[in-house]
Amino acid sequence: MTLLQSLKNLVRSKSIHVAYVDVGSCNGCDIEVLACLAPRYDIEQYGIYVHNNPREADVLLVIGAYTPGWEGKLEGLWEKIPDPKVAIAIGNCPISGCLFARPHTLVDPPVSKHIPIAAQVPGCPPRPTEILSAILAVAPTVFEDYEVRKR
Ligand code: SF4
Repeated sequence: MTLLQSLKNLVRSKSIHVAYVDVGSCNGCDIEVLACLAPRYDIEQYGIYVHNNPREADVLLVIGAYTPGWEGKLEGLWEKIPDPKVAIAIGNCPISGCLFARPHTLVDPPVSKHIPIAAQVPGCPPRPTEILSAILAVAPTVFEDYEVRKR
């Protein structure tokens, strides 16, 4: 285990850092993620911090419908996140392409063809409570499994 991973494990016991990437949305799901930060849902009360620095992230939220313009870029972003890590697809777009999945578009769902997706939160858009629940449900499980595997 590297020093970075050791440090990360230490701080992870108290917090989950979340980065998010929008690969082509209508911004509806972005607004729901931002609503998680507002006082009504107050995501930070659970020790979840949302920012856009993949090098400090534990969880990547993927929003929007994937198109070939993201070829290599999303995978590169995923590679920048140190292990252990987990990605969650937020909304119908990264799952099925939603309303953008039409014959005349270049939308190429699902996003799980490009990076491993641990959980999906369907909806157009999903509620902030569903986003919160997915992060709280998936992140600790994955980190726990990782710790077991590393022993
Ligand atoms: S799932 Fe719906 S709300 Fe979310 S980005 Fe796609 S079209 Fe917009």
